[in-house]
Amino acid sequence: MGACFYEKGLRFECQNCNYCCGVEPGYVFLSEEDIDRLAAGLSMERQAFVDTWCRIVDMGAFKMVSLLEKENYDCIFLQDGRCRVYECRPRQCETYPFWAHVLEDRESWEREGQSCPGINKGKLYTKKEIEAKLSSRVENNPVIIM
Ligand code: SF4
Ligand code: SF4
Repeated sequence: MGACFYEKGLRFECQNCNYCCGVEPGYVFLSEEDIDRLAAGLSMERQAFVDTWCRIVDMGAFKMVSLLEKENYDCIFLQDGRCRVYECRPRQCETYPFWAHVLEDRESWEREGQSCPGINKGKLYTKKEIEAKLSSRVENNPVIIM
């Protein structure tokens, strides 16, 4: 098997365009750990956090917990162009763009760069740092409600 395409690392630096925090309908799925961290960050009880800031998404065979969206599709926590829960933001947000399907191969990475202007810019992430991001998502799978 050949070397993975990010053997020498990949550059990424968010340009704050907000595209991945809004603009189009989408989901920010939460893990148990995300819910605990966000609730603590907002000084709320866990259930109150879910009732106030989340929606239950019916995926057919199961359900998942996602953050609410505003009417314009912005994430409920996007405020004046900034994430108001940045320090405790969900793992899905914190690990972007180092997601498994984006890192499948060089083509997937470059394709993602067509919608994210931060890709191939700024900070160089080492292979080790990239793999740590990948693992942190695998270890914190979104909540599945059967
Ligand atoms: S699309 Fe990329 S550059 Fe724009 S806000 Fe998201 S991560 Fe940052
Ligand atoms: S939680 Fe923050 S980083 Fe994640 S989508 Fe919402 S505004 Fe963006």
